[in-house]
Formats: sequence, C-alpha cells, structure tokens
Amino acid sequence: MRSIDETHDQRLTSWVDSANRPGSDFPIQNLPFAVFRRAGSAEPLRCGVGIGDAIVDLTALGPAAPGAGPAAEALAACAAPALNALMALGPEAAVALRRALSSLLRSGSAHAGALAAALVPQEQAEFAVPARIGDYTDFYTSIHHATAVGRLFRPEQPLLPNYKWVPIAYHGRASSIGVSGQSVRRPHGQLMPRGAERPHLAPSERLDYELELGVLVGRGNALGEAVPIERAEEHVFGLCLLNDWSARDVQAWEYQPLGPFLAKNFATTVSPWVVTLEALAPFRAPWRRTAGDPQPLAYLDCAALRESGTIEIALEVAIETQAMRERALAPARLSQSDFRDSYWSIAQMVAHHTVNGCNLEPGDLLGTGTQSGPEPGAAGSLLELTAGGSRPLTLPSAEQRTFLADGDRVILRGWCERPGFVRIGFGEAVGTVVPAT
Ligand code: CA
Repeated sequence: MRSIDETHDQRLTSWVDSANRPGSDFPIQNLPFAVFRRAGSAEPLRCGVGIGDAIVDLTALGPAAPGAGPAAEALAACAAPALNALMALGPEAAVALRRALSSLLRSGSAHAGALAAALVPQEQAEFAVPARIGDYTDFYTSIHHATAVGRLFRPEQPLLPNYKWVPIAYHGRASSIGVSGQSVRRPHGQLMPRGAERPHLAPSERLDYELELGVLVGRGNALGEAVPIERAEEHVFGLCLLNDWSARDVQAWEYQPLGPFLAKNFATTVSPWVVTLEALAPFRAPWRRTAGDPQPLAYLDCAALRESGTIEIALEVAIETQAMRERALAPARLSQSDFRDSYWSIAQMVAHHTVNGCNLEPGDLLGTGTQSGPEPGAAGSLLELTAGGSRPLTLPSAEQRTFLADGDRVILRGWCERPGFVRIGFGEAVGTVVPAT
C-alpha cells in the first residue's frame, strides 16, 4: 500500500496559482499524469503532469530536473508518447518522481522561475490515450449494477450464482479505446426486436454509456506467475475515468453464451489524466463483505484489503444534448455513485486476473465495470436509470431520454474528498454521439 507522506500535506500550496483554487481537480497534492502536445502542432507527444490549469512538460524541466537516482530514471522514462515506460518501473519510481515534482512545484521553490517555461496551459493542449494499451479487460465489480442489469435480462435469476465468488470479467478490445473529446459513431449491429421472427442489421437504437474507472497496470508479471493479493497493488500505476459505450439492443441478442462482443467493442473513452495510487493514498477505506454474503476465497483476501482495500472516489455522469448546447444550458447530472460501493476491489481484480498465470503488462487496462450504488438514482447507465428504456428521463431542456440520441455528449467526472486532506479530481472523460454512417 502507498503511504501518506509530505506530498499529501493539506498545507502545501503551489507557485502555480490556479492549483490553489478551492475545487481545482489538480492541486499540488494530486499530480496526475497525461500524454499531450500543443493542439494542432507537430510537436512530439510526451508525458506531463497536471497542476492547476496547466501541464508541466516533463521533457522540459531543464536544470531543475533531478540529476540521478530513481526520480531521474522515472523522468527519463517520460520522454515518450505513452506512459508505459514509466509504468513499468513500478511504484518506487513513481513515488520518487512524485516527491521530486511536489518539491519543485510548491510555493517558494527555487526553481519556480525556470520551471514556468515548462508549463503548457491545458486549454492549449491536445491529449492522447495515456498508455499504449496492449490488452483491455472489463470487470463487473458493482453488485448493484449486476443485479439491476440481471433483473432486466433475466428476471427469474438476476444475480448468477458465481457472482459472489468470482470477480467476473470479459476480455475487451484495446484498438477502439479513445481519449476524452472523441466522437463516438452510433454502431450498426444485429437487432432482434421483441416478437420479431428474425434479426436485422441496423444502427443501434439503444445506445448507452457505462460509468467506470479504468485501472492502469504498472509493473507486469511473468507468464505463469500469479500475483498474490498482498502484492497486487504493486502492479497498479493509477486510475482514470472510463466510459464503456454499450449498444444494449445488440448486447441483448448476442450476449449468450459467450458474453459481450460487438455491443461493446466499437468505442471506449478514457480520461486523459491518470491519478496515481500515491495520490489516492489519503482516500482509502476498509474493504468489507456484506453481512451474510460468502467471504472470498483465500487468494482474494488479505489483511491489507480488510484494512484499506477500498478507495472512496465520487463518480458522476452528466449529459449535454445538442439542444442544450444550442441554448447554452449547463450539462445535467444523470447520476452519482461512489467506488467504495464496489463488491470487488482493485487488488482482487489483479489477483484474480493473474491467478491462472495470465501475464499483465505495463499499460494494460482493467475496467472496473459500471459503478452503480445501492440507491436507484446512483445507477451508472441509462439501462438502469430508465429501467431498460421503460421509464424515460426528462432533462432540463424538457427533452426526454431512454437511451442516447445523436448529438448527446456524455461527461464523466470523479473526485476524492476527505476532511484533513485537499480534494483531488480526475478531470473529465467526454464523448459525443454522432449519427451512424
Ligand atoms: Ca462495462
């Protein structure tokens, strides 16, 4: 487990003034990583760290850069168009670089003048998917989501008997993962309307989002070597926001017996920012199994999990329709939930994924699955919020929605707050639906 140290001190401020504004997603206590360049430029993509409304270009620290040791090694890995090399170095390197950057960016730093030249305003930047994602696995860790969706697809047996024993997942598609700001084309697929005799090919009429976190793998494990749960988080670099776009009509027809396929693999949107496990250290909470439910098998349980295996992360979905944009209406919140309500933890996801010897590699992405809370309004998808499309939502523009319409923009946000610590945020993962071809 990452520990709380001087980089989390709530009294720390930065010489980058915007980082000290209350409510900023990127105070000096956060320091999330992204891959960026100036928008519209031919500059190489490279790694940066968010501070206030700016990005510190990690390839432009000049004489302020640490000269030797793990921080220097970590910094050298950042001169790349993806975070994989930094991720591969493991938590020791990430901790060393975080401490060095915290020191350089805090108020009174002797390097403030020189480092000002390494700042790029975020509004002038374009971002890339933060890692070269070799493999993508999507879990199903929210029992509230699994039960609500199961009720719609299988009213007679909403929660399958394996759910409370196995952290369920499927292997997703890495090639269609895009970064926030992307357009998502409404997919075609086989649709089998209720009562029809045969399916037909058409654009999905039940396009949905899923509110998830993405777990980015740091150091990998060798093929054949399971990662014990006690060491699982040593293989995690950090978290991002993730929208698993889903075509519910395609899904309903194709999902048995092998699970999601074309209903899910046409687009996945991630936030540009990766918030490290180091930054999340103050927001941990004990992991608990609901009373009466089976305790996990031994390989999915350990003392550290019981002590602080959960992270409290507030998550929210907002929508902005075409009409709302035209009338300059603010995006409307659709739901809010919290990752602490997840049935399975990040360490359990990693331990389970590798228990058969499967090798994870730096930059691999593990989706947490839709994060829905116990309350009806805390559902992380329209499928749940509208009861399978049977109860339309009315938006502030007076428009109704069961599923997404062309022009709808879906905005995911996440943040952590706790007394005694400074609030940190994940930025946004935004995607806009465009019409089918
Ligand atoms: Ca999902």
